[in-house]
Amino acid sequence: MSVIVEKYGGTSVGSIERIQSVSRNVAEKVKLGNKPVVVVSAMSGETNRLVELAKSMTTRPSAREMDTLLSTGEQVTIALLSFALQDLGVSAQSFTGFQVPIVTDSAHGRARITKIDVEAINAALETGKVAVVAGFQGISPTNKITTLGRGGSDTTAVALAVALKADECRIYTDVDGVYTADPRVVEEATRIPKITYEEMLEMSGSGAKVMQIRAVEFASKYEMPLRVLSSFEPDEGTLITKEEDVMEQPMISGITSIDGEAKVTVRGVPDRPGIAYSILGPISDAHINVDMIVQNVSTDDTTDLTFTINQEDLQPALDLLAPVVRELDAETVVGDSNLAKISVIGVGMRSHAGIATTMFKALAEKGINIQIISTSEIKISVTIDREYRELAVRTLHNAFRLEERGRKG
Ligand code: ADP
Ligand code: ASP
Ligand code: MG
Repeated sequence: MSVIVEKYGGTSVGSIERIQSVSRNVAEKVKLGNKPVVVVSAMSGETNRLVELAKSMTTRPSAREMDTLLSTGEQVTIALLSFALQDLGVSAQSFTGFQVPIVTDSAHGRARITKIDVEAINAALETGKVAVVAGFQGISPTNKITTLGRGGSDTTAVALAVALKADECRIYTDVDGVYTADPRVVEEATRIPKITYEEMLEMSGSGAKVMQIRAVEFASKYEMPLRVLSSFEPDEGTLITKEEDVMEQPMISGITSIDGEAKVTVRGVPDRPGIAYSILGPISDAHINVDMIVQNVSTDDTTDLTFTINQEDLQPALDLLAPVVRELDAETVVGDSNLAKISVIGVGMRSHAGIATTMFKALAEKGINIQIISTSEIKISVTIDREYRELAVRTLHNAFRLEERGRKG
């Protein structure tokens, strides 16, 4: 009998009917002789509702209590799904993060899983029970409830699949796989049958929220195959796996976008060694993640340094840099939070020239101004005015003819 790990996201458990439908899916697997471990998210909208509740109580919610609050969403779903399974005559047992236990570090709101003890789950499976596990939550070494960051139930599922040595981890969601672009933005987007971990990492890291990036990192590290599929009409979905297992290498796999990027520019900085460190040091000390960095060629012995961060970090970054500007005798620091980042991703880029040219030409033809460009081996990203975000994604999807076939450029 094989252990299978399945994760059902918010929409898939968004109502009593949806939870009953999941229970029928799971009961079917039990009938076929499998031992399912089912990871669930909070019912759709619930985590957002809890965040708003906290905000209506205080302007500065403490990280510890925020995690205590947010973890309740998943606790509701594990109990409801267990009831639904029991009503079908399937024996089931729910597990919160600490009951597994899923041990994490103490970084509230973005905790990392450090250890999973599978003894209790295995004991439940051995007595013929389905294990229903709360996603997104863990327990710190000092017994505090932690959460793994938004979308973190994906990571719970992958980590459990690794710990239980499952053959594959199945992520059931509200789309039937990973698409060449967000199907809510590009109607003609097509499903990608197979994609490499590396491409999925870049897609998740640049806006495709269908998989949480940490879950993909985990899967890649332990070579756990992931399958993303619809809980509404399960089909073969998308397999995320090693590059060797993806025979057909397309030029471009997908187009992604992120809203809510901000840009900080320090102008007129005297051009001397150490300025990048003086400016970016305090930013990283404040745990603000910097994405793209550009330093202009110096004219008249001064230079401009521009970098991008999350929108919510803009004001803290400007506050941190005000004294630095004075110390460096720079001209000024300015921020702009009206940006979107658009990325084109594909392992085939390694062996094809001219991708950037196609990208820039297509954007130029629509009159979309590119502000910053950055490239990696398998990704080209640009920042643009956020107002053009969806137009840019659709334009590039079309320019690379991704509507014709998911996996070929
Ligand atoms: P869940 O609640 O099941 O975890 P999410 O809302 O986190 O689901 O992720 C699924 C959503 O991801 C889809 O509804 C889709 O709009 C969005 N998405 C963004 N980019 C992509 C993509 N490239 N392929 C598929 N879905 C995508
Ligand atoms: N419920 C959490 C969230 O909304 C975790 C998850 O759904 O994966 O982010
Ligand atoms: Mg998700």
